[in-house]
Amino acid sequence: MFKRNIDMKVTEHIKKAKEKTLFSFEIVPPKKGQNIQELYDNIDPLMEFKPPFIDVTTSREEYVYIPKEKDLLEKKITRMRPGTVGICASLKYKYDVDAIPHVLCGGFTKEETEYVLVDCHYLGLDNVMALRGDARKDQQYFTASNGGNNYATDLVKQINDLNNGKYLHDIVETPYKSDFCIGVAGYPEKHFEAPCLESDIKRLKEKVEAGADYIVTQMFFDNKKYFDFVKKAREIGIDVPIIPGIKPLAVKRHLQILPQIFRLDLPPDLVSAVEKCKNNKEIRQVGIEWSIAQSKELIKAGVPVVHYYSMGKSSNIKAIASEVF
Ligand code: FAD
Repeated sequence: MFKRNIDMKVTEHIKKAKEKTLFSFEIVPPKKGQNIQELYDNIDPLMEFKPPFIDVTTSREEYVYIPKEKDLLEKKITRMRPGTVGICASLKYKYDVDAIPHVLCGGFTKEETEYVLVDCHYLGLDNVMALRGDARKDQQYFTASNGGNNYATDLVKQINDLNNGKYLHDIVETPYKSDFCIGVAGYPEKHFEAPCLESDIKRLKEKVEAGADYIVTQMFFDNKKYFDFVKKAREIGIDVPIIPGIKPLAVKRHLQILPQIFRLDLPPDLVSAVEKCKNNKEIRQVGIEWSIAQSKELIKAGVPVVHYYSMGKSSNIKAIASEVF
């Protein structure tokens, strides 16, 4: 296995690359009870492209119904894909790569968030992605936990406070302060709750002013959306790196679920190319080719990193990276 520079901030990786575009990707923790080996099997083929960092998502808690006697069901709240911080630590030490846990407002009190961050600090996970999270599946609107952060900006402030030795209920006089590099989300096609893109970008600026060091975008399939977004962000003074997020379309169902879940548009040319396919194998190939074209154009435009949403499957990301990196 090759040895790499770790314990670096995302912003340092970008600086060190000296305008060469980097490759990175995001993974989702396995469902509770599954073997972590499956995750490694999907990551192994991507390591040859030397990702300086890998993101690991955090899932929100959800209700499950447990069968009881006499056809009764018991409602319990659970997290189906726990283990984000543990997975990050295992990736960091297994692959010599910086691993980035996603930290959510939703489902956590500020105290619980502080403990997650303290764990990250002890484990040498010095990059974190600060996100609000979506509404829980049984809720129509996002509602913070009692005593939790309401918006990603509040979470960024909490992380920044920790970097200054300011814990929730104490100011800790210590030379051993955390020094988290903080990522936040940006939406080239606007976050679905925002009244307009301009207002959403103003909110993004608040996250940067609160201490965010870089931005990773929601997936998009039309690069023009990303270029316009970056232009608007720069015009209002957002000067941190804006990393584009790319997802290869892989099955016909994506035509419905990607717009529904991520509130984005799919370009008509992509939709018609998918509709002409006879099976999912052909669709997967269309998705790969589309992502290759997107990636090449983004790299030509000088983006710092192309970040791929792997959703646990790496073969299509490998096919793209082989052509592009
Ligand atoms: P925020 O930045 O808080 O914004 C949410 C909405 O509130 C926006 O419409 C914004 O314009 C508005 N807003 C912000 N501040 C204010 C204010 N003060 N007053 C009024 N309105 C305001 N979800 C997960 O559950 N787990 C993950 O691991 C995960 N990873 C992600 C990674 C990336 C790169 C991206 C792009 C998204 C990810 N998400 C994840 C999804 C994310 O949690 C949702 O999109 C969520 O709905 C918004 O999160 P945010 O951090 O962008 O929220």
